[in-house]
Amino acid sequence: MKLRAILLFGAPGAGKGTQGKILGQIPNFAHFSCGDAFRNLRVDSPLGRVFVEYASKGQLVPDEPTIELWKGSINGLTATGRFNPEADTIILDGIPRNPRQVELMHDLIEVKAIFNLFCPVIEKLIHRLQRRALKENRLDDANVEVIRARLETYKRETRAVLGCYPEHLIHQIDSTQEPLQVLLDILKILAKIPKPAVSDGNTTFMVAPDRSVQHG
Ligand code: ADP
Repeated sequence: MKLRAILLFGAPGAGKGTQGKILGQIPNFAHFSCGDAFRNLRVDSPLGRVFVEYASKGQLVPDEPTIELWKGSINGLTATGRFNPEADTIILDGIPRNPRQVELMHDLIEVKAIFNLFCPVIEKLIHRLQRRALKENRLDDANVEVIRARLETYKRETRAVLGCYPEHLIHQIDSTQEPLQVLLDILKILAKIPKPAVSDGNTTFMVAPDRSVQHG
């Protein structure tokens, strides 16, 4: 069975993580941040070492181990009851990140919508990333050269992901707005996406007509 997925898309610093964390709190949604999954690895584990090597240069980790990490994380979320593949929707933040990853995930996810958090002002992204470096102690945010390399990686490899999906799935969201407004724009669209017919008991998606209240 394919997982219902929503993609949060956009350059580093566009606010995918901020929005993903909030959206993941809504019942029947779960948030997966690929960057967080990498940062949660022990730096002395084999994949942790690979991550540090690539991330410190602003480059993407190779595709196959990235997809394996993603699969393992989803299995973990499912096994611990934080994600129910039958009833829930996964908010993917930072994956798929190039056309090859789209291909590797093709049989595993059913993409219901893509929110492209666009930011035409590159200086704004750089400023946000530098502020985050101080707040979250992130090595890849700390230096302007690495930030520029990540923005280049985004342009060169990641932007092409949008071309892999039909246009009607892609929603343009202006990420230069304040976070609350960005959230509002996303929610307005999210609320209109048809829900799965299955409910896990948390949320009732399909209300059967209640004949007892029918008169006449
Ligand atoms: P950003 O703010 O750049 O979007 P993330 O936290 O999403 O940062 O990712 C940090 C780093 O983790 C990336 O620069 C990259 O090295 C690695 N990474 C995250 N997601 C992926 C992915 N899907 N494929 C390959 N590498 C990834």
